[in-house]
Amino acid sequence: MRYTLPPNNQYDYIIAGAGCAGLSLLMRILENPFLSNKQILVIDEAPKNLNDRTWCFWETSPGLFEPVVHHRWPRLNFYSQAFSSPINITPYEYKMIRGIDFYTYVLQKAQQYPNVHFHFGKITSSGNEDRLGYVLTDGEKLYANYVFNSILPKFRQADHTSLHKAPSRQAGTSSLLQHFKGWLIETPENIFDDTAATFMDFRVGQQKATTFVYVLPVAPNKALVEFTLVSERLLDQIDYGQGLTSYINNYVTKGAYTVLDEEFGVIPMTDFRFAPSNGRVINIGTAGGQTKASSGFTFQFIQKHSEVMVQLLAGGKHPTARTSFLQKRFHLYDSILLHILQTGKMQGADIFARMFKKIRPKTILRFLDNKSTLIEELGIMASMPARIFLPVAIQKINRLRK
Ligand SMILES: Cc1cc2nc3c(=O)[nH]c(=O)nc-3n(C[C@H](O)[C@H](O)[C@H](O)COP(=O)(O)OP(=O)(O)OC[C@H]3O[C@@H](n4cnc5c(N)ncnc54)[C@H](O)[C@@H]3O)c2cc1C
Repeated sequence: MRYTLPPNNQYDYIIAGAGCAGLSLLMRILENPFLSNKQILVIDEAPKNLNDRTWCFWETSPGLFEPVVHHRWPRLNFYSQAFSSPINITPYEYKMIRGIDFYTYVLQKAQQYPNVHFHFGKITSSGNEDRLGYVLTDGEKLYANYVFNSILPKFRQADHTSLHKAPSRQAGTSSLLQHFKGWLIETPENIFDDTAATFMDFRVGQQKATTFVYVLPVAPNKALVEFTLVSERLLDQIDYGQGLTSYINNYVTKGAYTVLDEEFGVIPMTDFRFAPSNGRVINIGTAGGQTKASSGFTFQFIQKHSEVMVQLLAGGKHPTARTSFLQKRFHLYDSILLHILQTGKMQGADIFARMFKKIRPKTILRFLDNKSTLIEELGIMASMPARIFLPVAIQKINRLRK
């Protein structure tokens, strides 16, 4: 699809990358009466017509994307060798949105707006010129008041190895990958309780890396089972398949099942500080640091970030949100946890088992959402072995003060 230039050859906004962050922002702009008539160009290298991922997240009330929630669970389960328990997450619900439903929903909404233009092409760079932001796509420079960029810098792009081969631009940062393969399986009989999802199951080998499985039943005979590792390197594809087969045989069903669909994903987990913006180019999504370094959860952080940006734009302000003290505090916790995982000082299975054994699930979810109170965080820290966590915390705090 070819873009149309607005009357003065300049867009109000260019959204570079029509993924989760780009389309979440577009949706919020279109919902805002002060912004919905802006000239917007959305660019992606490919049309969003595949179900390339599923997002899970938790919330207490319906969010903007409630109409496309595919399944929801009022209860979760946690399993590990040391501790297993059902988890009461009231007042939260754990929700799943399928990528394809999300893309279709936003794109259908955008079709109602003649001021929203689409272009499929590869963006090769972005920057600032004459007090405007620009992107370079297919040899052409396109300008806007603001460019919202969700394309990762080249050296962090997920060919999934360059992340680690890249020269470290920020000394002392940790970088891991959360990588997973998921199978949507169907069984001949109804064997799943589709009112409860397995949040994490660590009862699998931990020799290669922190490894866990989550099981998301979407019907009594259908579930998405995801075999997940947190490590520096990816596995051979065959190993994910073996991990899934073995888990399903041991913990899901000894009987027959059909694999209906497959998902593979890699999420960078890093405390590298992504620049929030460069002049008129605002970084969003994973490229804007919205992936929580210690968990990989991103969906809800993208929603919060889009909301703040839209508020700033509607108020006539530059859309870069200031980093709050609260965000710095959670960045510190993420750094500590990531360092401990990367150096193998403690296994992820032990960390989460201790947490779920000692801390109320609601508090853990708030903590993972960067919404807990200092008192709650002190409680979580107290649940971890001080001899491991304290020296790392001191090292990280000292680095911050330099
Ligand atoms: C398989 C998978 C499952 C995930 N599950 C969860 C989950 O359950 N919960 C959660 O919170 N997070 C999850 N995440 C993490 C995170 O939410 C997603 O990665 C999310 O899609 C990030 O949004 P984004 O907009 O930053 O990146 P993307 O959604 O990847 O969007 C980037 C867009 O930019 C386009 N693009 C890239 N390069 C170029 C270029 N040079 N030119 C033009 N276009 C380009 C891409 O085609 C893409 O559409 C998951 C990630 C993956 C990969």
